[in-house]
Amino acid sequence: MSRKPIIAGNWKMNKTVKEAHEFVEAVKDKVPSAELVDSVVAAPFLALDRIVADAKGSDLKISAENVHFEESGAFTGEVSPVMLEDLGVQYTIIGHSERRAMFAETDETVNKKVLASFAHNLVPIVCVGETLDEREGGKWQSVVKNQVTKAFAGVPSDQASDVVVAYEPIWAIGTGKSASDEDANEVCAYIRATIADLYDEATAAKVRIQYGGSVKPATIAGLLAQSDIDGALVGGASLQPESFLALLDAVK
Ligand code: PGA
Repeated sequence: MSRKPIIAGNWKMNKTVKEAHEFVEAVKDKVPSAELVDSVVAAPFLALDRIVADAKGSDLKISAENVHFEESGAFTGEVSPVMLEDLGVQYTIIGHSERRAMFAETDETVNKKVLASFAHNLVPIVCVGETLDEREGGKWQSVVKNQVTKAFAGVPSDQASDVVVAYEPIWAIGTGKSASDEDANEVCAYIRATIADLYDEATAAKVRIQYGGSVKPATIAGLLAQSDIDGALVGGASLQPESFLALLDAVK
C-alpha cells in the first residue's frame, strides 16, 4: 500500500497576516506537485482568508490549527467548521497537545471536532502522543490507544481512511529532542494496528500517520523512510520559507 506523504507546517501563534501572506507568496510556486506530496501550512485563523486566496491554483494547501464543533451560536471567541469551509480551508489540526494542556481540549471534544470537520469537508489532522512520564512509566501504548479510539468514535470506515493522525510525543515538541526514527515508527505502527482493530486492515493501511516533534530538514528523510510514517507535522522548522521547502525536498 503506498500512501501519499503529507508534510504540514504548524505555525502555532506566529505570523501576522502580512507575514503569512509573504510566506505563501515565497513558497507557493516551489512546493512539489500535489501528486507527489500533500504540502500544507496550518496558520492562525486571522490569516486564513488571505492565504487561501494566495495559494489558490498552487499545490500548497491550507489548514486551520483548531476548529469548534458547533456550527454557530453563543460560543464567544470560537471559529466554526462552517466558517472554515466557507473560506476554502481544506484541513484542520485537532487536539494538539498544547490545546489539550492549555485550552481544556479533551478526547471528547477532539471526537466532536473530527465529526464536525467531516460534516464540512475539512480533513482532520488528529494529534495524539504521550508525556515523558507516561513514556518512562511504560504507558505509551495505553495512552495512544485511548486517544486514537476516542478520536475515531462514530467515524464511518469510508471517512476513517481520510483521517490524518499526527503522533507527537509531548516530550519531543519544541525541545529539540526528536524521537528516534525506530521509536517513532514503533508508535506509528501501533496506531495503525489500533485503527485496524477499530475498523479493518484495509482501512488502517490507507490512513496517513505523521510524526511530529522537533522535525528538521536534516532529520525528516530518516523518519519518512520508516514503514509506518507517512509525513510530518512540523512547528519551528516550518516558519521560514527555505526551511519549509527543505522539508518538502525530502519527498522529491
Ligand atoms: P516542533 O512542533 O516541530 O517545533 O517540535 C511540532 C508541533 O507542535 O506540531
